[in-house]
Amino acid sequence: MSADCVFCKIVSGAIPSLRLFEDRHAVAFLDIAPLAPGHTLLVPRRHATRLIDLPPDELADVVRPLPRLARAVLEASGAEGLNVLQNNGPAAGQVVEHVHIHLIPRRRGDGLGFRWNAGRYGAGEAEDIAARLRRALECAGA
Ligand code: AMP
Ligand code: ZN
Repeated sequence: MSADCVFCKIVSGAIPSLRLFEDRHAVAFLDIAPLAPGHTLLVPRRHATRLIDLPPDELADVVRPLPRLARAVLEASGAEGLNVLQNNGPAAGQVVEHVHIHLIPRRRGDGLGFRWNAGRYGAGEAEDIAARLRRALECAGA
């Protein structure tokens, strides 16, 4: 529990939320400022800031209900699609510093979306970054 964390307060019940699901590891509730009706957040009970701050087994426990939740969000909202979004760090748009997974109902033409400014690799760039990634993975452990 982190004293000033809004999601810790939601998990503990200190501040209200429209709770949709809970188990030993995670809680899901409606986002208070939805990108679409039914926009849902799934959070670990235990405070951690970013995805990489959660041990893998704990992360696995947190995301286990994700498919069930995704089916429910699709069915209840009547949406045609769903984005699962997880922001890490301010540069990536993370505002609340407690790991959370967004489930965002989507419809064609709803006006939501990323600016998906797809680029192209120059000569050798893809091989370079792939080599760096493989080296980082070797160092990263399990
Ligand atoms: P992010 O930008 O990924 O950190 O998203 C944080 C999300 O938390 C936003 O979509 C907010 O609308 C949502 N949020 C902030 N405070 C609350 C709250 N008290 N109850 C429900 N959702 C919240
Ligand atoms: Zn927290």
